[in-house]
Amino acid sequence: MPSGIILSSVDALIDWSRGHSLWAMPMGTACCAMELIAASFSKFDFDRHGTFPRPDPRHTDLMIVAGTITRKMQPAVKRLYEQMPDPKWVIAMGNCAVSGGIFYYDTYSVVRGVDEFLPVDVYVAGCPPRPEALQDAVLQLRAKIGQESIGPNTFYVRKQNLPQSGDPR
Ligand code: SF4
Repeated sequence: MPSGIILSSVDALIDWSRGHSLWAMPMGTACCAMELIAASFSKFDFDRHGTFPRPDPRHTDLMIVAGTITRKMQPAVKRLYEQMPDPKWVIAMGNCAVSGGIFYYDTYSVVRGVDEFLPVDVYVAGCPPRPEALQDAVLQLRAKIGQESIGPNTFYVRKQNLPQSGDPR
């Protein structure tokens, strides 16, 4: 049997298991956090996707940033992300997490999108986005994970060249 067939099957199995057991680190910092909390309720039933919140970054592989991130908060969010084991993914939920939202233009202290310091995999627009939009983001992320491979030089590579704070965007 050609080795490619075996590798493909292992890829499919690993991707399936990763995509269907995304344990989320909830990083709710502002009003979007209410929608993130609502997403945990039985009405939306994220558990059927194998996605549920865990309070410890060492148990999680998905960080959901929901809300405004200030410059003062940024190092703490980054530290929590770095404590998560690889491979790991990030969803930016809401306009504040995506781009600083309405606050960026009124204050010097708000980060203009968490992709200034975290490699965001899926963006969820809205102010606030509904839990259904987050559910769609989880499905999008699962599709991305499904394209990964454990083959040489094809494993998930995190973005290295994140924009720096103050860079034009
Ligand atoms: S995007 Fe809107 S709802 Fe979400 S944290 Fe910002 S202001 Fe609040």
